[in-house]
Amino acid sequence: MHELSIIRNIFSIVEQKMDNLYGGHLGKRVARVNLMIGAFSTVIPECMHFNFEVARRGTIFSDAELVIKIIPLEIYCKECKKNSEPAEPVFVCPICDGNDVEIIKGRDLRVESFEID
Ligand SMILES: [Zn+2]
Repeated sequence: MHELSIIRNIFSIVEQKMDNLYGGHLGKRVARVNLMIGAFSTVIPECMHFNFEVARRGTIFSDAELVIKIIPLEIYCKECKKNSEPAEPVFVCPICDGNDVEIIKGRDLRVESFEID
């Protein structure tokens, strides 16, 4: 249950931010959570939605909507020193065909923002 633990993590991140912003999260309702997932992360968006439905029951997230935005993979080529967004997760630079590349975006997952009622 990889995704379920990620969802629980997201809930704690949002609760923590609400604590910092409003001095508490109880009694408040979250309306929307905007999540950014890298196209090359190991997380499956469908599974995220499913686990979100399960995990939100009986919490301040029970009426919340989960919005997932996919961030394209971005790589940096050490040979031609350029950034690019390859269409497929291949480790070859689409500009110079070099294979000394580094992933700089598209692998992480983060809470972009959230909205409360
Ligand atoms: Zn290159």
